[in-house]
Amino acid sequence: MAKYTYSLECPYSEKWNKFTTYASRDFCYGYLSAMRGQAPRLNIRMVRSDGKIMDEIEAYDDVNIGQIAGWPTAEQYERAGNEALQRARIIREKNKKARMATVCETCDGGGVVGSHCGQTPESYDITLEPCPDCNPNGTVL
Ligand SMILES: [Zn+2]
Repeated sequence: MAKYTYSLECPYSEKWNKFTTYASRDFCYGYLSAMRGQAPRLNIRMVRSDGKIMDEIEAYDDVNIGQIAGWPTAEQYERAGNEALQRARIIREKNKKARMATVCETCDGGGVVGSHCGQTPESYDITLEPCPDCNPNGTVL
């Protein structure tokens, strides 16, 4: 009798949910190595019965055209494109929220802001100035 059992978990509703329990170590490693070649796939981790996380694979959320055989239709590409744009929006929104918590919004954390001068495209010049919000007395490198 092996000392430990192992479970496989994936995130669902912000929590880790076990979908395989009391499995052997070999089964779990075999499952993970098979899943590594799959796309799309969920974020999956392998946990030992004492709570130690043995292994984890990242989610791979590839855009699924839905192609089974032959050529995808225009509608399939459009749907996949819309899904990809939707995901991009969600990621951008999350990144923005994470950044806003710590990084100056005015300069995006760079400490400098750029401004244009010049009236025509030929005379346009970009100058950098210290960010008035987080680096008012700072210098521009
Ligand atoms: Zn700033």
